[in-house]
Amino acid sequence: MKTELKKYTVSEIVDGFVYNELEGKGLFGLSGKLTIQPEYQRNYIYADGKKDAAVIESLLKGYPLGLIYFNNVDKNNFEVLDGQQRITSIGRFTTGKFAIVDENGHEQIFTSLTPDKQSKILRSELLVYHCEGTETEIKDWFKTINIAGIPLNEQELLNAIYSGSFVTLAKTEFSNSANANIQKWSAYVKGSASRQDFLATALAWAAAAQGQEKEGYMAAHRQDTNIKELKTYYNSVMDWISGVFRDTEKEMCGLEWGRLYEAYHKKSYNPSKVSKAVQDLYGDVYVKNRRGVFEYVLGGEKDPKLLEVRVFDEPTKQTVYKQQTASANKKGTSNCPLCALGHSANKNKIWEQKDMDADHVAAWSKGGATDIKNCQMLCRTHNQAKGNK
Ligand SMILES: [Zn+2]
Repeated sequence: MKTELKKYTVSEIVDGFVYNELEGKGLFGLSGKLTIQPEYQRNYIYADGKKDAAVIESLLKGYPLGLIYFNNVDKNNFEVLDGQQRITSIGRFTTGKFAIVDENGHEQIFTSLTPDKQSKILRSELLVYHCEGTETEIKDWFKTINIAGIPLNEQELLNAIYSGSFVTLAKTEFSNSANANIQKWSAYVKGSASRQDFLATALAWAAAAQGQEKEGYMAAHRQDTNIKELKTYYNSVMDWISGVFRDTEKEMCGLEWGRLYEAYHKKSYNPSKVSKAVQDLYGDVYVKNRRGVFEYVLGGEKDPKLLEVRVFDEPTKQTVYKQQTASANKKGTSNCPLCALGHSANKNKIWEQKDMDADHVAAWSKGGATDIKNCQMLCRTHNQAKGNK
């Protein structure tokens, strides 16, 4: 990784400072070359009259503010990786957005300070590391310096590493809280725009569809000047879900829809039948995992494992075991009904309960209930053989 330590004065950093009141973000500095809080990322949180004032008091007393880190987007454009809150505090103060209390207990905004204090602030120097490097380098480095404040999450970090036209456009679409589609997306994708969750999901799906990881996809598209493919794929998944499933259930949120889309979108479905199947399964008390209902239905209702169908409880198994064993003893046959039917050495074997498993006489998937009337105990071998059919 290439790093370069540079000194900037406060007046250079706050040149062209813009603060967006509506979004609560410090946006630009360094005559427009510096993006302070990359748009749609987290908000400014120092505006509490204490943390922000402490930053200004430090400058007035000549205390160091600590290192600041910039990520070099290109030769003339930088983003703040660490130091967003400090820089925004300084920018807001010098543009008159808040006051500090002076040694006499009077509130002072920047322009009401004495000229020597004003110039002390503007001439204060900030130490900035400019960084440029590969993903691994930046990740390792992040771990090492143990950045103060709120750490960047995985997607924010990737955005910094692969920053460029593609990420900027992708964030405008997927990390924009003002995007009217967010409500619709939230039915199927968990998270928030400001924490980059929709962007992370869109990238992961589009990458997986091409057998790639998110990192590789972002690297390959880094210099793209459009996000058509990413957007089209994401919207196809969204449209497919709402086309197949008429009702929105809360368990649909956060499923692996990208994978399900790839596996099933070429099959045709009758939405009313799908809706009926989902409702039936939701009404089935034996279905433990409702999140599995959607893949179960998409797959033609063949894989009950997805539903984690409730198993027979211990008292039921014990009762059935006792009944079967008593009647087997009377007849002199095996207490496993399938062994009793056969001609092997186990024809008359009385199994212990620990060597038997409970089985649905009528398969659950064919409507058989998980109750005592539909329970039989089979020896391990027969139970497994039946389960494999
Ligand atoms: Zn058996």
